[in-house]
Amino acid sequence: MAKKNRGINTICTHSGELKDNEFKGAVSPLYMSTSYAFEDVEVKRYPRYFNTPNQQALSIKMAALENGEAALIFGSGMAAVSTALLAFLHKGDHVVLQQTLYGGTSNLVVEEFEKFGIEYSFTKDLAPSSFESEVRENTKVIYIETPSNPLLTITDITAVAEIAKQHGLVSMIDNTFASPVNQNPIDLGIDIVLHSATKYMGGHSDILAGTAIASEKHIDTIFQLAKNLGGSLSDYTVWLLERSLKTMGIRVKAQNENAQKLAEFLEAHPDVSKVYYPGLKSHPDHELAKTQMKGFGGMLSFELREELDFSKFQKKLNLIKPSMSLAGVESTILSPSLTSHGLLTPEEREKQGIKDGLLRFSVGIEEAEDLMEDIEQAISQIV
Ligand SMILES: *Cc1c(COP(=O)(O)O)cnc(C)c1O
Repeated sequence: MAKKNRGINTICTHSGELKDNEFKGAVSPLYMSTSYAFEDVEVKRYPRYFNTPNQQALSIKMAALENGEAALIFGSGMAAVSTALLAFLHKGDHVVLQQTLYGGTSNLVVEEFEKFGIEYSFTKDLAPSSFESEVRENTKVIYIETPSNPLLTITDITAVAEIAKQHGLVSMIDNTFASPVNQNPIDLGIDIVLHSATKYMGGHSDILAGTAIASEKHIDTIFQLAKNLGGSLSDYTVWLLERSLKTMGIRVKAQNENAQKLAEFLEAHPDVSKVYYPGLKSHPDHELAKTQMKGFGGMLSFELREELDFSKFQKKLNLIKPSMSLAGVESTILSPSLTSHGLLTPEEREKQGIKDGLLRFSVGIEEAEDLMEDIEQAISQIV
């Protein structure tokens, strides 16, 4: 396995960069060709084969970020998730999935897998024993996502990876919420790491992309399906994503620090009844999070006192924008019950612990004091 012998910010800035031999420019040149010579060359290049110069260069950086051997860059996070799952699941196979998953991932499974003859079960909770008890004769894959959306619950990565190994299964993780800055699951025994690069990797709310990182062997299995499904990313966006990744280390560290400050501020606030953030000592998985995360991330959730109108609160915010996505340098807020989890019945939400008034807060890189002031003035207008 490739050793990560450089620090995170050096990998972000330099790993995989292409040399500009002609003009000696400082950044990777962008090659937009969709057509390449086929005679007297070592590699037959074509963008849908995930092997143009810029795609290959960015794959090297992605692999270095997660201590993997190889990586593929996809046109979206869901392209990475769907291709990886379907590459290892065939007709008659079974997959064990974590109970709380990103909405798009559970929709993929619930709406499409039956058509392919793939069986699935969701765990009853996030305890490792609940994953093991769902394993069947025909199980091939275990799939987790930690911290979870929107309650930031932590799954024990090492324990689940161990269960997968004992049963000869492929383990996959959606590592989007943590980002490679805060959590490197391959080091903890996971086989395949998936990211929506739309989130912390892109970081500026202007790129849709995804990535899968693993051993050469597993990436080749994913590639064999990926080239047929056609979910690769255009080189211009690949190049933009390389640029975004240069600052990921410093962005995410700033977001970790801000989120910790904001979580402590909200927890102490008399009009806030509950805060969910793995960096808080009051978080039930705080000790577990410390063993597998280097930082606790930029995502937190909270509930206002029940009498307060959470919709009105969001409208009164000036700096923090109500927004569907997350992980940008701009702080954004969202009501899961009205958006990401709006398709679930109130009972299903209740079962997952998602109250109607829950607010998911993606903490940006603004000054923490300004974010606190924004929350304070919004609350003062609704009490
Ligand atoms: C956004 C997201 C995805 C899907 O990524 P897209 O880039 O929107 O396709 C998958 N998992 C998590 C945790 C996400 O936040």
